[in-house]
Parts: sequence; structure tokens; C-alpha cells
Amino acid sequence: MKTPGTLYIISAPSGAGKTSLVKALLKRDAGVRVSVSHTTRAPRPGEEDGKDYNFVSQALFDQMINDAVFLEYAEVFGNKYGTSQTWVAEQLAEGVDVILEIDWQGAQQVRHLMKHALSIFILPPSKAVLAQRLQGRGQDDEAVIAHRMSKAVDEMSHYPEFDYVIINDDFDQALAELHSVFVARRLRQEVQQCRHAGLLAELLS
Ligand code: GDP
Ligand code: ADP
Ligand code: 5GP
Repeated sequence: MKTPGTLYIISAPSGAGKTSLVKALLKRDAGVRVSVSHTTRAPRPGEEDGKDYNFVSQALFDQMINDAVFLEYAEVFGNKYGTSQTWVAEQLAEGVDVILEIDWQGAQQVRHLMKHALSIFILPPSKAVLAQRLQGRGQDDEAVIAHRMSKAVDEMSHYPEFDYVIINDDFDQALAELHSVFVARRLRQEVQQCRHAGLLAELLS
């Protein structure tokens, strides 16, 4: 039997760098996959349907809520976002670690349902840098950026609910810190006992 994967929740105020960090982590670690959320938000330039998000209409999203498709869903910045339950369960059963890049409301729902989930909060090094990154990303219009900045303190006030906190100042350092959480988790005694059952049996015989 495979050791089930770990479910990770990653949250951050918009622009703190969670998507960039998660993309870099996926390149570095083949044992991790990210859940592609469903959203009613319009795609940004360059975003691909099915890759960055599954972009759906409001009507389809509501239908999916009725059909109990979502592990969690929430309204963020006036759009709806939700995580597919089936995909997550399949990956975890396969032994794959799964990342959910979701907001604090979704994080609360998932923590309640999945007691073993680990959660990580990404913070920017300052408010000024957060504003610069949102501007620098150049994908949202001014009103959207202002709205996201106005919600940043609200989002960040939830950091005490998370198991780990990473400050994304130097990108490579933040990436190394993020990766270390995943690596350490796989070295836990009960996980190693299951993964290396044959070796342990031989060593102790
Ligand atoms: P960015 O991640 O801030 O660049 O912006 P997005 O528009 O991609 O995401 C907006 C918000 O929705 C963020 O707070 C995400 O964490 C959150 N979000 C994305 N997908 C999900 C999801 O499936 N469920 C929940 N609850 N939140 C999500
Ligand atoms: P989020 O997914 O949290 O909204 P993104 O990953 O889209 O954030 O990052 C927002 C912007 O900040 C992007 O333009 C990204 O290239 C940039 N960025 C992310 N991390 C850093 C960092 N450590 N230093 C400088 N720029 C960064
Ligand atoms: P964006 O529209 O910039 O991609 O995302 C805005 C916010 O929505 C981010 O904080 C992101 O984490 C959150 N978000 C994205 N997908 C989901 C999701 O499936 N569920 C929840 N709860 N939040 C999500």
C-alpha cells in the first residue's frame, strides 16, 4: 500500500508571490502537484484554461456547488473560486503531495475537513513591496489592484491560523524554505517506516 500524500494549503495576500513560488517548487520536486481551481474570474492575459484555472461561468459554478463537486469554495475579490474534491482525493491516494493555493476562507474549510493538512502562509517583506509586485505583475487594472491592496491586511491577519510562515523577500531563499517543509514532512518516522518497510525489516533482523 502506498503512503498517502500530504495535503498542503498555501495562502497569501494577492501579489505576495505564492503562484511564482509554487510553480518553482513544482519544477524542483516531482512528488508535488498543484490543484487547478475552478473560478468565475475572467482569464488574465497569458492564463490558460485547464492549466492556471478552470474558467467557468457563474451558472456552471453554482451547478457544481449543487452537485457537491467542491472540497471547498469561497468568494474572493468578487469572484468565486473552488477546489475539486475528486482530483485531490485521487492524487493523495496515489501518494502525491497536493498543494491548494487558496484564500483563508477556503483554508478554514479544508482544515476542518482534512485534519492532517499542513498550511503555509506567505508574507511579503513590506506593504510597499506588495504594492510594487501587484503593479509589476502588470496583469490587473488599477481598480482591481487597489481592491486587492485594500484586502491585503484582512488576508494577512489570518496568518496565526497557519502552521508555517514564510517571508518572500529573496525569492530563492523563500523557495528553499518552502521546499524544506515538504522534504521534512516526508522524513517523519511513520512515513519512513511505511516507505522503507523492507529495509527496516532487513536491518532489524
Ligand atoms: P493571485 O493568486 O492573488 O494572483 O490571484 P488569483 O485571482 O489567482 O486568486 C485570487 C484568490 O483566490 C487568492 O486569494 C487565492 O488564494 C484564491 N483562490 C484561488 N483558487 C482558490 C480555490 O480553489 N479556493 C479558494 N477558496 N480560494 C482560491
Ligand atoms: P500571487 O500568486 O501571490 O498573487 P505572484 O506569484 O503572481 O503572486 O507574484 C506577484 C509578482 O511578484 C509577480 O510579478 C512575481 O514575478 C513577483 N515576485 C514574486 N516573488 C518575488 C520576489 N521574491 N522578489 C521579487 N519579485 C517577486
Ligand atoms: P487570482 O484571481 O489573483 O488568481 O486569485 C485571487 C485569490 O483567490 C488568491 O488569493 C487565491 O489564493 C484565491 N483562490 C484561487 N483559487 C481558489 C480556490 O479554489 N479556492 C479559494 N478559496 N480561493 C482561491
